[in-house]
Amino acid sequence: MIRVFIILKETVIIMKFKYLGTAAAEGIPALFCECETCAEARRRGGREIRSRSQALIDGKLMIDLNADTWYHSINYGIDMMDIKALFFTHTHADHFYPQDLSLRRRYFANLKKGDKLEIYCSQEAAKELEENSINDEAEHYGFTVNVIEPFKPFHAVGYEVTAVKAEHGTDMPLNFIISDGKTSILYAHDTGIYNQSTFDYIKQNEIRFDFVSLDCTFACQKIYNNVHMNLENCMIMRQKLMECGAADKNTDFCLNHFTHNAENVLYKEFSEKAAEYGFDVSYDGKTIVI
Ligand SMILES: [Zn+2]
Ligand SMILES: [Zn+2]
Ligand SMILES: [Zn+2]
Repeated sequence: MIRVFIILKETVIIMKFKYLGTAAAEGIPALFCECETCAEARRRGGREIRSRSQALIDGKLMIDLNADTWYHSINYGIDMMDIKALFFTHTHADHFYPQDLSLRRRYFANLKKGDKLEIYCSQEAAKELEENSINDEAEHYGFTVNVIEPFKPFHAVGYEVTAVKAEHGTDMPLNFIISDGKTSILYAHDTGIYNQSTFDYIKQNEIRFDFVSLDCTFACQKIYNNVHMNLENCMIMRQKLMECGAADKNTDFCLNHFTHNAENVLYKEFSEKAAEYGFDVSYDGKTIVI
C-alpha cells in the first residue's frame, strides 16, 4: 500500500527590522571629539562605530532620514526606490535632514512615473519641510506629506501604524507602533519614560509588542531629566509596558541611540552589562527578524 503524505506548509510571515544607524546626534566617535570613548571607538572600529539613528523595516518602510542616509544606502545596499513610506520621529538633525529629499528632483534623480514616497510626520516637521521649500514642490519630488497625530491609527504600505507621544523636552517626537497584522513593534526614539497618557493608550487598546527598541542614549550614566533614557530608565519603561500587558518574557527589548558622553557606552562593555538585565544592544547594521 502506498501512503501519500501531504505536508501542509504554514505560511510564516516575518518582519525584518534593521538598524542602519544607532547613535545620537554627534555619532560615535563624535565628529569633532577626541575623548577617551571616541578615541577607543576609532581604535576598535566594527560595532563601536555608530552613525546617526535610522531604521528600516522590510526594506520598504524607513524611520527618519538624516545626513547619514547616503552612507547607509551604500553600506547596506539599500535601493532607496524600494522605500515607499518614510516616518519622521521629530526634527532634530540626527533624525531629520530634509535637504536630501530635494535630491529627488529632476537632474538629481531620474524618478519614473509612479515612483512615490509617502512621508508621515508631525505638523511641526511638515512646516519645516515647507520652510525648506520642499513641500511646495512635493509633487515634483514624487512624495506626499501626510500630517499625523498621536493615537490616531492609519495604514501605510500595508502596515497599521499608530504614533504615540514621546517625552523629549520642548520637542514632541512621535514614537511609532508598527504592525503587519501579526507582528507588532514599538520604536521609542527619542524619548524619556512615557507620560501616563501613552501607557493608558497602549493598555486600553490591548496592544502587545514582539519587539521594542528603546532610547538608551545615556547607557550607564546618571541622568536628571526625562528627555532621553539610561539603562535604569529602560528597566522602568519595560516594567511599565509589562504592567500594561504590552510586553512579556517573549518580547525582545533592544537598547539604542547612544551618545559618546555616556558612561560605559562602548558596545563591548555595555552589551555585556545590558545582557545582565535581559536587554539586547543595537549596533549599526544589526538586523532583527521578528
Ligand atoms: Zn536623536
Ligand atoms: Zn567623544
Ligand atoms: Zn532628539
